[in-house]
Amino acid sequence: MLTIRQYGDPVLKQATKDVEELDGRLAKLVDDMFETMYEAPGVGLAANQVGVQRRLFVYDVGDGPQVVINPRITETSGEWAFEEGCLSVPGLHWTIIRPNKVHLTGLDLDGNELSIDAEEYQGRVFQHEVDHLEGTLLIERLDEDQRREAMKVLRARTLAD
Ligand code: ZN
Repeated sequence: MLTIRQYGDPVLKQATKDVEELDGRLAKLVDDMFETMYEAPGVGLAANQVGVQRRLFVYDVGDGPQVVINPRITETSGEWAFEEGCLSVPGLHWTIIRPNKVHLTGLDLDGNELSIDAEEYQGRVFQHEVDHLEGTLLIERLDEDQRREAMKVLRARTLAD
């Protein structure tokens, strides 16, 4: 089990670097990330959420555990409103509008190229996780009113700690 970094941790605001070696160490990290994601429980987890500044995320939208190394969203289209939360900002959810369909590229653990068309829920998970890897939290996707409310709650929470 790895510790999930929480809102306010600077590691969540830093863009990650591409993975260069698909080695045993990476495979071990991916295993630990699966365990941490299921324990949380969550449907996606980016490496920097567990303090590792590398570009990869794990997810499970109901088809079992999957990993994408060096993921990139190369195309988006449409629009979809969906209530979104984050393991690094626990207990809070907001309806966020993002593109509905995305095309994601990356590698699997064996170095095979992935090329995935996703929409709705899976497309949302991909966008949320790629955002993490680029140092962007869902707070930055909120509209002005949502963000004002969110900052109030998060500030009160920080003071209570
Ligand atoms: Zn998140």
